[in-house]
Amino acid sequence: MTTLAWVGEVIARLIQESPENRLDDFGGQPIFDAPLVGIADGDDPLFKHFLEVVSHQHLQPRPFLQRHSPEGTDLTQVKVISWALPFAQEIRRSNRGRDLPSRLYSLARNNGGALIYRMNSRLAEILHARGITAVAPTTTSEYDVFRTPDLTFSSTWSERHVAYCAGLGQFGLNGALITSLGINVRLGSIVTNLPLNPTPRNYDDYRAPCLENEGENCGLCLDKCPIEAISLQGLNKTRCNIQRKEIRHKFMDRYQNELHLLPTPIPINRQTRNRFSLGCALCQCGVPCESRNPFGIPKGNKRNAGY
Ligand code: SF4
Ligand code: SF4
Repeated sequence: MTTLAWVGEVIARLIQESPENRLDDFGGQPIFDAPLVGIADGDDPLFKHFLEVVSHQHLQPRPFLQRHSPEGTDLTQVKVISWALPFAQEIRRSNRGRDLPSRLYSLARNNGGALIYRMNSRLAEILHARGITAVAPTTTSEYDVFRTPDLTFSSTWSERHVAYCAGLGQFGLNGALITSLGINVRLGSIVTNLPLNPTPRNYDDYRAPCLENEGENCGLCLDKCPIEAISLQGLNKTRCNIQRKEIRHKFMDRYQNELHLLPTPIPINRQTRNRFSLGCALCQCGVPCESRNPFGIPKGNKRNAGY
């Protein structure tokens, strides 16, 4: 078994066996199906580019790992393992409505985030036990979420951009990443000194074909958004954030009373608190990219063989 196949198997097993992957409120329904895994080179020049396009505070894998490794650690290799976890079919189907996200989707979205947070630490422990250094940026004090000057949110580690760098997909019209397992996924990543070959990015453009030709290649998510946050030019993040905030206000108290919502420690402006996130994602369900890449699967973006 190759090292990549072994890593893929470990991640798949962690998801499958995590109690957080089961929704007791829905008869033990699993949240995620088997993951897609990609590898980015920690010295890929794209990470410097993220300082311009994501945030000037975006973490750089090599110095990040240096800061979190014991002295004398061999950092000849610095790689980023990125994974996409596709929501199970029943969860995606439940969210194909037009107005508000389903109760099942909201619970799965929230608990899926909590699962990824806990899984990051479990994966790091498994790698450490084998003498491998591995640290998930989102579990450290260097991770922060903050408002940008245009009042949308940004962070010091963008899982979407990291996944793009790791060959997992391109950005669609609604701003999410279209992977070979579709757009309705949640992402995670860890920085490591494990020697792994980077996954080829078999695309030249960060935009999926639906963002070219002014959205004329598909554009179906545009109709799915109840508040017109998507146009042929792309996503209006401010509008989308307002809607997600309203969903939160509308349902959070009730869901916290009725459902087993798991908290996730998330920093906002350096204030880390246990938080809940219900999301929305109506524009990612009941569309051609819901669970596949409708424009064809780039060679390096196929589910890695061997797990
Ligand atoms: S629904 Fe169509 S336009 Fe929207 S992200 Fe998916 S493929 Fe692109
Ligand atoms: S997540 Fe919801 S509000 Fe945001 S663009 Fe998609 S459908 Fe619209």
